[in-house]
Amino acid sequence: MLKNIIEESIISNPWPIYVGDTFFDGTKVFKANSCSIDCISESKSTPMYKCSHGLNHISKNIGNECIVITGVYINNSTNSQKLNRKYKPQKASINAINNWLSELESKLLSISKISNKIAKDKFDQFHEFAKWANEINFYSNRLIDKSNNSKSRGFEAATEDLKSLHKTSVMLLDSLDTSSIYFNPASASFGHKRQTDIYSMLHKISIVLSHSKSNKSRVQIPINGRVKNKHKIYESFKIIPLSLLQNALKYRKANDVEVQFDEIGDNLTMKVISYGDLIPEDELPNLFNRGFRASSAIKSKLEGNGLGLYVANIVAKAHGFSLSAKSEIMTGKGIAKNTFTVCIN
Ligand SMILES: [Zn+2]
Repeated sequence: MLKNIIEESIISNPWPIYVGDTFFDGTKVFKANSCSIDCISESKSTPMYKCSHGLNHISKNIGNECIVITGVYINNSTNSQKLNRKYKPQKASINAINNWLSELESKLLSISKISNKIAKDKFDQFHEFAKWANEINFYSNRLIDKSNNSKSRGFEAATEDLKSLHKTSVMLLDSLDTSSIYFNPASASFGHKRQTDIYSMLHKISIVLSHSKSNKSRVQIPINGRVKNKHKIYESFKIIPLSLLQNALKYRKANDVEVQFDEIGDNLTMKVISYGDLIPEDELPNLFNRGFRASSAIKSKLEGNGLGLYVANIVAKAHGFSLSAKSEIMTGKGIAKNTFTVCIN
């Protein structure tokens, strides 16, 4: 940040300075020819260093950066006798330097305040989008709840158009939630943890995500296993199943996408299993890195930004849950079984 302040000429430096390793020559006093890099590196160990050339180097830590005013001749009583004609142009007053340093420090503080405010304002704008997406989701949920026919009620009984509309609202909300955690990872643990029936949550998500306008591309998402206990989770948790299921639906090449629950006491394991390309062993740990896409995903030409799994992992970490991936080739089938596992405890 200090470097930017000097580069943007928010404050001009009358003396030659170093900000970290970057040098800026002064506007009134210029770089001392006599001094070498040794004079500068020595100066960082003491606030006011006098080198063998009789010149002063004044260093100060501002924020987390070190700034050095280098190669100036401080004209005070002890120095006055030694004032050499050679160093005359390097003359500077220690008061002026100290004033300049405090001005720089206060400018840095003001600029940080402004930039934090701008970041917050931008994030607030995001909330506005999420607010309207939530409204759409709320009303589509109401319409879904009112759906009823002779065979069933709720999502299954809704008209095809309403199903598609509702699915869109779920996807829209999910991509906004994912983006807002991407921009502000701390928001993964916003709000209070609530006792939640994760099985019901998965059931709801799976019937919505498996809906497709055409019967041909419809994929079933069967849920195996049972969940007896409720689990304390943040609002953000649903991003994990949404992201894992969307990922599985996108890259599957055969069969259904399965959800498998295993509950032992308070420990619950949730697996999302799909069948597609093998993910090489060395790529598995990178799947949760920002922007990473597996080589098979890139080859598939399917669009993706590598955000979903990255954010799902942020959410898992915010809960203290672990998220991992496994890929194993199915002998003789030329296809791999890909399993994403979340350990909930
Ligand atoms: Zn020197």
